[in-house]
Amino acid sequence: MDAEHLYETVLHVTPPWYVEEVRGKPSASRLGKCDEVVVVIAHGEPLACPECGCACPRHDSRVRRWRHLDTCEARTVLEADVPRVRCPEHGVRQISIPWAEGRVPYTRAFECWVIDLLLEGTPAGVARLTGLGWDAVNAIKGRAVDRGLSRRGEVSPRHIGVDETSAKKRHDYITVVSDQETGLVLHVSPGKDAESLGKFYHSLTISAINRIESVAMDMSLAYIAATKEHLPQSDMAICFDRFHVASAFSKALNKVRVRENLKLASQGDGRLVGTRHDWLASDAQIDGRTRRWFKELSASALQTSRAWAIKEAASRCWEFVSVGWARKAWKRLIGWIDRCRIPEIKKLSDFLKVHLWGILNAISFGVTNSPAEGINSRIQKLKARSCGFATKAAFATTVYFHLGGLDLYP
Ligand SMILES: [Zn+2]
Repeated sequence: MDAEHLYETVLHVTPPWYVEEVRGKPSASRLGKCDEVVVVIAHGEPLACPECGCACPRHDSRVRRWRHLDTCEARTVLEADVPRVRCPEHGVRQISIPWAEGRVPYTRAFECWVIDLLLEGTPAGVARLTGLGWDAVNAIKGRAVDRGLSRRGEVSPRHIGVDETSAKKRHDYITVVSDQETGLVLHVSPGKDAESLGKFYHSLTISAINRIESVAMDMSLAYIAATKEHLPQSDMAICFDRFHVASAFSKALNKVRVRENLKLASQGDGRLVGTRHDWLASDAQIDGRTRRWFKELSASALQTSRAWAIKEAASRCWEFVSVGWARKAWKRLIGWIDRCRIPEIKKLSDFLKVHLWGILNAISFGVTNSPAEGINSRIQKLKARSCGFATKAAFATTVYFHLGGLDLYP
């Protein structure tokens, strides 16, 4: 078998295309390998319009080149003098090329390989391995995402999570919407305001909007406003995240401890010194040796121990399955908070009264925002791996590429 036939077989070149010539450029290295193999492909008769498939006369032609997968360790380039036809209906058109898309200077097989490398490694590593520039690597990634998004079809999730994640520096955010059931990123947009989330709702059909049952989020006023504006069922759907509520309690408790510790220390009482983490742990997390000490302390009349008891009671309020019982428990807790005479904790009363509806929705659906937060931490890893992003759009592309579950290949 001569080289032309071999490459026809290897490259799946079929009539009316055929391999006309294979040129190897010898390397100067001692190994005597080729640096580059150029496979010249030609097109026989007849020529057909790419739109309607009708046989048409040749109009002109132009030489094009495509980088392909290496063969025998040599960089391999396909070259063809690609004809344009003159179709009576569609005008002058370039005939379709089976091995590449549009005006892309790479074969489909090469793009697939670069996409596989990008899924596994860093963009810098992919650029080094392939000898492509950063711009070329990013262009392949961007096309893969565009292709995936256009193939994705209608997005219609039932349970979504919304979270903000830092894009570059602090105070520079993107909004990420994910499907709580599949764990896939559905939407990425710059900023963390109402418009950032509004863009997602805007992209949905009315039936997709109506299908949404729950929206897990932290208590961001912007996200609440956007959801209320676009979702008629928002009062039933918005679910506030358990861990954000818990963190409000933990912060308040810590303030109580700091204040009380200062007062006790001034009287020579060191009971609260160095106990920050003991109080933030939940009852279930405390073990063995510290338990006896902790029991004594938490049974004392310290404000810190009362604040801890309230924090623990709040965490138990999430355990109810029935919304009716949960509502009663939260109301009882709010009553306790109102009477507790610990200023840092009393501030939580208004916070809970304002947000109770969304807390009860979360309990009713058994929803937390932890899938979205898991995505957030994967996004932060992608950011570290990519050594940051020049633009928010590049960041969004990378998030879709890795976490969007898209069909990326040409
Ligand atoms: Zn035509």
